[in-house]
Amino acid sequence: MMSDYVIAPPPQPAVPVAGGGLFPVRRIYCVGRNYAEHAREMGHDPNAEPPFFFAKPADALVTNGADSPYPSETQNHHHEIELVAAIGSGGKNIAVADAMRHVWGYAVGIDLTRRDLQAWAKKGAKPWEVAKGFDHSAPIGTLVPAAGVPTPLKGIIELRVNGETRQSADIADMTWDLPHVIAELSKYFELFPGDLIFTGTPAGVSAVVKGDLLEGSIAGIGSVTVRIA
Ligand code: MN
Repeated sequence: MMSDYVIAPPPQPAVPVAGGGLFPVRRIYCVGRNYAEHAREMGHDPNAEPPFFFAKPADALVTNGADSPYPSETQNHHHEIELVAAIGSGGKNIAVADAMRHVWGYAVGIDLTRRDLQAWAKKGAKPWEVAKGFDHSAPIGTLVPAAGVPTPLKGIIELRVNGETRQSADIADMTWDLPHVIAELSKYFELFPGDLIFTGTPAGVSAVVKGDLLEGSIAGIGSVTVRIA
């Protein structure tokens, strides 16, 4: 059948699901400064503000085990290990009490960040896209359906670089837990099936270099592995 597209449509980004199948991704939302110790290490007062959001393009995804090339235009490329929630039913102005019913599943993600460009953006009141939304900036592990995750609001979250632990905390330490994140985000954007939410990173973010092997895990959810190529 003939298509009306005047160029070939881009491929649909998707995350492999545990047990088979693919979760098609529409948007990637991210939460900033959602663990007090990380807010402090970045020089901010952890109690000062409600959650705030930024985004990455869906095609920034890197599936489990694939390489993420060291990005151009940075001398300070950082890892941020994060719980990722995948939205299975959409909505706007979602109530905190209803929020978990909108989650299809969970994964472990890494919010790769050009930290020097983020500092430049903050200093100059510039947008964060070049610091956060660059190509290959969103490694993600296999998605686990919510029914297979009995305790999605607690569990040890860790990131190792070449076997050395750099980040270790508990997802229960989030300043704004997942139901509050979903409720707040849905005030600003109507959520749809296929949206991913990266829920913020704990303390211990640090620089990686070409060749480093990053391994992240969250107890009860799974893991993610990516090499900086
Ligand atoms: Mn982050």
